[in-house]
Amino acid sequence: MSVKVKFCGGVRTVTGSTHLIETSKSKVLIDCGLFQGKRDDYYQINSTFTFDPAKVNALIVSHAHIDHCGNIPNFTKQGFHNKIYTTEATADLCKIMLLDSAHIQEENIKFLNKINKRRRLPLRKPLYTTRDAEKSLDLFEGMAYNTKFQVTEDISCTFIDAGHILGSAIIVLNIKAQGEKEINLAYAVDLGRANMPLLKDPVFLPKGFLDYLIIESTYGGRLRGDIQYAEDDLSFYINRTVERGGKVIIPSFALGRSQEIIYYLSELMKGKKIPELPIYVDSPMAVNVTGVFKKHIECFDEEARVMFYHDESPFGIKNLHFTRSVEESKKINDDKSPMIIISASGMCEAGRILHHLKNNIEDEKNMVLIVGYMAKNTLGRRMVERHPRVKIFGVEYNLRAEVEVINAFSAHADKEDLINYVRKSDSSLKGVYIVHGDEDQSTSLLDSLVRRGYNAHMPQIDEEVELI
Ligand SMILES: [Zn+2]
Ligand SMILES: [Zn+2]
Repeated sequence: MSVKVKFCGGVRTVTGSTHLIETSKSKVLIDCGLFQGKRDDYYQINSTFTFDPAKVNALIVSHAHIDHCGNIPNFTKQGFHNKIYTTEATADLCKIMLLDSAHIQEENIKFLNKINKRRRLPLRKPLYTTRDAEKSLDLFEGMAYNTKFQVTEDISCTFIDAGHILGSAIIVLNIKAQGEKEINLAYAVDLGRANMPLLKDPVFLPKGFLDYLIIESTYGGRLRGDIQYAEDDLSFYINRTVERGGKVIIPSFALGRSQEIIYYLSELMKGKKIPELPIYVDSPMAVNVTGVFKKHIECFDEEARVMFYHDESPFGIKNLHFTRSVEESKKINDDKSPMIIISASGMCEAGRILHHLKNNIEDEKNMVLIVGYMAKNTLGRRMVERHPRVKIFGVEYNLRAEVEVINAFSAHADKEDLINYVRKSDSSLKGVYIVHGDEDQSTSLLDSLVRRGYNAHMPQIDEEVELI
């Protein structure tokens, strides 16, 4: 009897995490993420599974970021009908994320088909629809942290805290193999970092427990700055902008980063390090996600729980405004006084952030503050590179506003944290598999681990390895 892992997605790249564990008795999928890339690759890769979804016995999801859960509606559409296990908070967040993703799929196809119709090209269907997403939501089963549960006849699972975003988990599998033999395998993708606001720190497994580890490598070759400096930078840039009477525009992902930034802003205001400016969170999805944060206080660290207990929630400060309607969103633009606007999408490719940018980037008093990773060929990246003119909704604008970048807010473990995570489970490890990173980052982590004597491997896409 053998135990195999097939790396079906999210290797040598950061999106599309999908991995299949196969024993002679069961098939369990870990994550079912959306691959993001060029349009044709996007449809081809996301709609093709190299195994039969109908024959998979269970799906386990690490966290609610779209590169880990975004292809689930398509997976169920193609025949998967069993349970989807994840933490309770992730199950709640997936509802918002998958419905939003389905809406985006439908909108994108409408737009694309308009062009195809004009060019007399065949019309396309969305990768999945809102109805598909709704159907997949019925399969979710929220489980508690640190509680072992049976997934299939020979595989059981425990979720431990990954410290990456609300609800994120390191998936620990116990697999019964030949005779009395057992394998313990952990999937730390994505892995967070210690001392992040609100969240608990990533949990280490006891020495000698793990046989195999699958680990991410987004920052496999990089060190990012200390979170303390990020807070100082944030107050410095805000004060500078307020002094000249400008607005601070922060493009941010709706899940995770927006809530973190709100936390820091509320701390800076409480500590009187920045003036009590109005903060507008203008992103309907960020509003919904923040609601889930308020519901899952059990996931927070001690400090945050005390804060909530004393009614000092960072989401309750008086100058924080959540906007839902388009009218409310437009009103923000009519008000010319200093303020902070947090809006999605994070890379400035879609969403309400585009309206705020178009209305504000031509004024040198304002600041665009970049707090997340900006991929190549996005408007976010073009602003970071200070292109003098940028296109928004097809119209060119002069980029006169100041653009500043703070990198240290990343929710990912960096090179040092990743090596440290492997080192702590040390003596027992038979193999480490490096996934979820651009090739140079994965290679860098691979080299570091091999140099330290680990049996580390960087799989190819669709590679299958036999553990036992
Ligand atoms: Zn993530
Ligand atoms: Zn990820």
